[in-house]
Amino acid sequence: MKETLKYFLFKFLVIGNAGTGKSCLLHQFIEKKFKDDSNHTIGVEFGSKIINVGGKYVKLQIWDTAGQERFRSVTRSYYRGAAGALLVYDITSRETYNALTNWLTDARMLASQNIVIILCGNKKDLDADREVTFLEASRFAQENELMFLETSALTGENVEEAFVQCARKILNKIESGELDPERMGSGIQYGDAALRQLRSPRRAQAQSAQECGC
Ligand code: GDP
Ligand code: MG
Repeated sequence: MKETLKYFLFKFLVIGNAGTGKSCLLHQFIEKKFKDDSNHTIGVEFGSKIINVGGKYVKLQIWDTAGQERFRSVTRSYYRGAAGALLVYDITSRETYNALTNWLTDARMLASQNIVIILCGNKKDLDADREVTFLEASRFAQENELMFLETSALTGENVEEAFVQCARKILNKIESGELDPERMGSGIQYGDAALRQLRSPRRAQAQSAQECGC
């Protein structure tokens, strides 16, 4: 038996300076565990996950910079057609916070003026080494019309929330007519997925027949 699932498809970006924890946030969201340094050679450049937002299915197709940001060479094709973005800084590094304006300019210029962005102050678990207060970052977010959360890719705190809140805002904008999913380049598509049942009934029958030996 096949079940057809209708879902929205949103392209998401994870942007911000190198070392802020972007790859770890993506890994934590997809795999629900912290990516330790020993496996960084398997650099995920891309991840996708279907989430349920208020009864609607949304497939997030998430692009990681995969190290391009180290050379300030994040390409236009990376930004093209993105509906949402996590803009990441490290709460223990003022330098990464100071770079936010540049990232924001690029995202709005190269992705879309309408891109929905959530600011993520990552490494929330390292509160003792904090260089950026929650208050100043939340003011920055307010001034620049960004949502804001402090996250930890290490403990998982607020990681799922960041992606879900961003997706929810995009859905709200679609419902209010502010965003048109049909428009090319909006970073939003409808999709159909034929989901096979997890357990095929036929195979289960064959197996039990073998077991009883009759
Ligand atoms: P990227 O360059 O932005 O992709 O950053 P990475 O995901 O590669 O992470 C950079 C470093 O920060 C790595 O050593 C991670 O182990 C560490 N890191 C990432 N997220 C966190 C976090 O939430 N808490 C702590 N304590 N360390 C983190
Ligand atoms: Mg990375």
